[in-house]
Amino acid sequence: MTVKEKVFWHDTIDMPTAENLSALMPKVDIVVVGSGIPGLSAAYQLARRGNKVAVLEAETIGWGASSRNGGMALTGLKLDAEVVEARYGRELTRQLFDDSIASLKTVEQIVDREQIDCRFVRSGQLLVANKPSHFEALQREAEWYAQHFDHETRPVPRRELPGEIGSDVYFGGLVDELSAGLNPAQYVVGLANAAERAGAVLYPRTRLLQIEKIAAGYKLKTQHGEMVAGQVLVATGGYTGAPTPQLRRRIIPIGSFIIATQTLPDRLVRQLIPHHRMVFDYKHFLNYFRFSADNRMIFGGRAAFFPETESTIRSSADILRREMVHVFPQLKNAEVEYAWGGTLDFAFDQMPHAGQIDGIYYALGFAGHGVALGTHLGVRMADAILNGTVQELPYNAYPFPIAPLGLYNGKPWFLPLIGLWHRILDWIY
Ligand SMILES: Cc1cc2nc3c(=O)[nH]c(=O)nc-3n(C[C@H](O)[C@H](O)[C@H](O)COP(=O)(O)OP(=O)(O)OC[C@H]3O[C@@H](n4cnc5c(N)ncnc54)[C@H](O)[C@@H]3O)c2cc1C
Repeated sequence: MTVKEKVFWHDTIDMPTAENLSALMPKVDIVVVGSGIPGLSAAYQLARRGNKVAVLEAETIGWGASSRNGGMALTGLKLDAEVVEARYGRELTRQLFDDSIASLKTVEQIVDREQIDCRFVRSGQLLVANKPSHFEALQREAEWYAQHFDHETRPVPRRELPGEIGSDVYFGGLVDELSAGLNPAQYVVGLANAAERAGAVLYPRTRLLQIEKIAAGYKLKTQHGEMVAGQVLVATGGYTGAPTPQLRRRIIPIGSFIIATQTLPDRLVRQLIPHHRMVFDYKHFLNYFRFSADNRMIFGGRAAFFPETESTIRSSADILRREMVHVFPQLKNAEVEYAWGGTLDFAFDQMPHAGQIDGIYYALGFAGHGVALGTHLGVRMADAILNGTVQELPYNAYPFPIAPLGLYNGKPWFLPLIGLWHRILDWIY
């Protein structure tokens, strides 16, 4: 069987097509640029609150990372609570982590309210330790959660790991029962439909080319004509480009890749990840994996640092297969049926950022945590835009850095160096 270089999740939906392009409305209250999870979530919330909203999407609706990811709706941020606290202090850290926990509720509420059939299941997350020192850090993390905001997580020592994962390469783990799994493509389609039902108008294949400040707000030049908007929210993730240069130089586009196996027998699924947890490891060059609803092992990782191309997908598929068999030798004969990639949005400080720059709103820098947090931040951003309280968001309380010495215009020449640096960190820590 040949591997399909295709997103497995896309085979589970009717992808919204680019047909029936309607003419651009000449004037709207708010334009959202980018139809990923945060953009659609914001558009949905803004439209529900009675605003005239347009979503501009350069490709098809949900085309970006939002429909290609691991479908892990996780608590926490990319960085450990310890690191965030050392940088920004306890109060802000508490607000950010509270928000990450609230984000699961937000996803659940939208899924329930809008009856989105996306296999949302609170099956929990398992963070596994690649070294004994990682497990010590996980135990400290669990204490921090319990002590500072009453959030229970459960460290799992190595001897008890077989109850959680059928692999003997890890040195312990940390379970958080609040996290969930979903099918990201089904979720994005559901969000898009909900936004449309609420009154938002979605424009696929309508790339934003330029934004100009005018007296009435902003004039947006697109590939299909112009539109005037009172406000603009940019949610273009790792695909942030030339029309917003002040944001592009703050975002590093990093590739992440996934393979999906053939469907596997129930018996094997129960042996490998008995509670259907969303699993990820502690490395900088991390792996993450889970089962799909139809029993495929979905195994992802940052196998190459460069964004997705035919060649990075092919080479990553080989690397990921080897890694998967290293973690689960039981899968050595399993066929890999799908391989794909997508682009993550990392800020230079690895933190999420939401605020306003030159009058334009943005929500960016999800660093692999955009499924739940992107949904939540979309809602919070929409409310903050309408209430004029964006400055009060915790995501706006710390600087949104540009590259050291300003040596970056959006072309990430330094990706191989970051990749190398992460490998060194994994080797040392
Ligand atoms: C392989 C992979 C696995 C991941 N796994 C997980 C996971 O399990 N859990 C998790 O929480 N997160 C995960 N993530 C991260 C998550 O997918 C992202 O954080 C989230 O989807 C970001 O959403 P976004 O809308 O900001 O970006 P995207 O979904 O990438 O959407 C941005 C959109 O903006 C559009 N765009 C760009 N420029 C323009 C323009 N000029 N005009 C119009 N439109 C434009 C793009 O076409 C794109 O569709 C993963 C990401 C990848 C790539």
